[in-house]
Amino acid sequence: MICNICQSTEFKRIGTREFGLCARCGSYERTRLMQFYLERHKIRRDMRVLHFAPERGLYQWLKPQIDDYVTADFDLERYTHIPDINFVDLTDPDSYERFGTFDLIMHAHVIEHIPYNYSALLLRLHKMLRPGGIHAFSVPVYGSFYSEHWGPMSDEEATQRFGQFDHIRRFSPIDLERTIGALFRLQDPDLNAEFGAERLDEARFPTDKRVGWNGDSVFWLTPEDCRF
Ligand SMILES: [Zn+2]
Repeated sequence: MICNICQSTEFKRIGTREFGLCARCGSYERTRLMQFYLERHKIRRDMRVLHFAPERGLYQWLKPQIDDYVTADFDLERYTHIPDINFVDLTDPDSYERFGTFDLIMHAHVIEHIPYNYSALLLRLHKMLRPGGIHAFSVPVYGSFYSEHWGPMSDEEATQRFGQFDHIRRFSPIDLERTIGALFRLQDPDLNAEFGAERLDEARFPTDKRVGWNGDSVFWLTPEDCRF
């Protein structure tokens, strides 16, 4: 077994997920899956990249490969290892549209935190893609219906309804065509077919998350995938 981001051979358990976390770079399964997509896409030095809430392992892997790598988050105290990270508030389009256009825009498990119309946010980010660009993201996808709540909630209620104390929405595979699928043309993921079972096994990517949409799935979208 080996982490496909940092080559560590040591993983840590998170809850019921025996190999949930890479012991060295801290990558989750979904972060390791994102690297498979990025590696296949082939990173070019002249690509302009925008990465929200940059995961430590993925950042360290990408940083030496590209010259124009823009990172951004709302809570900069979590990113003292990235000296040039930008402050953004995703409820304020001016705070991120000022960055210009990109060949790759990434955000993993960010949208479920943002009290802003998620369709407008995803479309605004998508409009920042250059021709041939990629918008790559993941969100919580589970259960049998889309749900969102902006009103006051205790930590317990948020955890019960959305899986974490600071989440305000969740997506579902059942109605995904009517939520994110209404914005973008989606193809049901089959990761064994895309990347090969052997490589996914080696990176300890869970076998039950490889077919269909779930919280580890990567939405990997081109400008042409947008319905608007
Ligand atoms: Zn690692």
